[in-house]
Amino acid sequence: TTPPQQTESWIVVGGCGFLGRRIVEMLLERGETNVAVFDIRKTFDDARVQFFTGDISNAADLERAFEGRSVVVHSASPPHGLDAKVYFAVNVDGTRNVIQSCKNLGIQKLVYTSSASVSFNGQSLEEADETTPYCEKHLDAYNETKALAEKMVLEANSPSFRVACLRPSAIFGPRDMQCIRTMLDVARTGKSKVQIGDNSVIFDYTYVDNLADAHIIAAEKLNDPNSGVAGQAFFITNDSPVFF
Ligand code: NAD
Repeated sequence: TTPPQQTESWIVVGGCGFLGRRIVEMLLERGETNVAVFDIRKTFDDARVQFFTGDISNAADLERAFEGRSVVVHSASPPHGLDAKVYFAVNVDGTRNVIQSCKNLGIQKLVYTSSASVSFNGQSLEEADETTPYCEKHLDAYNETKALAEKMVLEANSPSFRVACLRPSAIFGPRDMQCIRTMLDVARTGKSKVQIGDNSVIFDYTYVDNLADAHIIAAEKLNDPNSGVAGQAFFITNDSPVFF
């Protein structure tokens, strides 16, 4: 990434989460002085960060926090395993609110954390890239609403409102509560005695620092309308798939 832009005012929606907090930390580590967080909960404190507690389903909450920002990173989403209506309320209606609040306040840059699962519903994918279509039928409401939200964000792209969507696979790294933790729980409780397949199947994982870095780089690239980033979605991988 390039040195901090002292004129840039960042807000990370979902900035108290696993990924969002790492994005906040990496912005601070490189010397950004204008960093805010919007989240439905507060999980840490840092005197250098302005915190806003609110729900993205509530447009008024968002507009209060977005006032004066120049770039929004939207990483908020409910975790897996909830009722479908929660995903539609947060991922679809909430993301629509994020887009509209940016437009109302004249914010010109939005980076959205999407998911590799917009193109994956359990089928075998080889050499998949960004030309791979969205799934016609998604695995569940979480994945369906991540795809709907990504489409909305991309459709909102214009010269005065430049957007990018990043698609990680399962994210791992410090403070991960889903990916590695679930695997360890499976191992600890002795549920890992059955192997499906012959160890030739590979799956993608995304290291949290690489992904946080990708969000910051994408936001910077949105400053240049000719960088080829605006209006695009990108898979974010580690370049070395994991064998099971
Ligand atoms: P996380 O649960 O740790 O963080 C998400 C944050 O969003 C939380 O702090 C939560 O409080 C906040 N949030 C949820 N609903 C909200 C609402 N209505 N209003 C405001 N804030 C709200 O999740 P994560 O693992 O850091 O995931 C970050 C993003 O990456 C999500 O968009 C997720 O869909 C995407 N993603 C995650 C994975 C993964 O393996 N963890 C894989 C692919 C995509």
